[in-house]
Amino acid sequence: MSTEKIVGRFAPSPTGPLHFGSLSCALASYLDVRNLGGKWLVRIEDIDPPREIKGASSRILSQLEDHGLYWDDKVLFQSTRLDAYQNSLDILKQHNLAYHCECSRQRVNSLEGIYDNRCRPSHLPSTNNATRLQLNQPHQLVEFVDKIAGRHVQSLIEDVGDFVIRRRDNLFSYQLAVTVDDQYQNVTHVMRGSDLLDSTPRQIYLQHCLGFTQPQYAHLPVATSPLGQKLSKQSLASSLISGQETLNIWSALNWLNQSPPNDLQKWSVSEILTWAISHWDSSNIKRSLTMPAPEGF
Ligand code: GLU
Repeated sequence: MSTEKIVGRFAPSPTGPLHFGSLSCALASYLDVRNLGGKWLVRIEDIDPPREIKGASSRILSQLEDHGLYWDDKVLFQSTRLDAYQNSLDILKQHNLAYHCECSRQRVNSLEGIYDNRCRPSHLPSTNNATRLQLNQPHQLVEFVDKIAGRHVQSLIEDVGDFVIRRRDNLFSYQLAVTVDDQYQNVTHVMRGSDLLDSTPRQIYLQHCLGFTQPQYAHLPVATSPLGQKLSKQSLASSLISGQETLNIWSALNWLNQSPPNDLQKWSVSEILTWAISHWDSSNIKRSLTMPAPEGF
């Protein structure tokens, strides 16, 4: 692939400021494409207003800048892309791949994550119903090779079932929006947390249904607290301390197993990033779903 075609992205949801785990993800995806001479994009995934924290988008963007992680092009806000999601949903409907589901939340919850396709195929009107993607033979077994996690196989029929692409409250699902936008932005390299490893087969299946190109995937370990919980914006992981950017970047590099020399801590963030781009080796990253964050984060 020629270098000008390489495109990576960081796609935070505005549910809180960056913490050590999300900074490490942003840094890894940045270094991975910069090392190849590619572009790095930022996309704010603001399609779920009930989960959004006011001011989080601008906070995340200024934290990225403070850490020297400058993006190419304009930031894409998913809230401006609703027509594109609707358009893809219409295409899926035209191909009889989407149907309306009238199951209650209680019923769906009782199925413990694997939908039994009870409403398939239904011809219910679209209002007040979730829309699900109908899985068809022979593509229900999805296999891909993750650059960090290795070979990953999932039977969508057995492990997920027909999945929601537009919710009952009319919001588009993460799976649909992320798939449409990775294609729209010509993303070739997706590097993100392992909490999304199990979502990837759904995205690959959607790409197949919509005739999109499949990017290369790499899923990083998720940073955990000393108690083993995932650091997350929702679990109120502490935001990064401002004024400590050099230490944050150095610690994230160390956590990503890039062996940054101690001396780097005396450098500016842009100098550290220059070092890190040329020394980047994603094969050093530990092949693990989780990894404790360093002390103090
Ligand atoms: N918006 C998602 C999050 O903040 C990440 C989406 C992705 O990288 O595909 O967890």
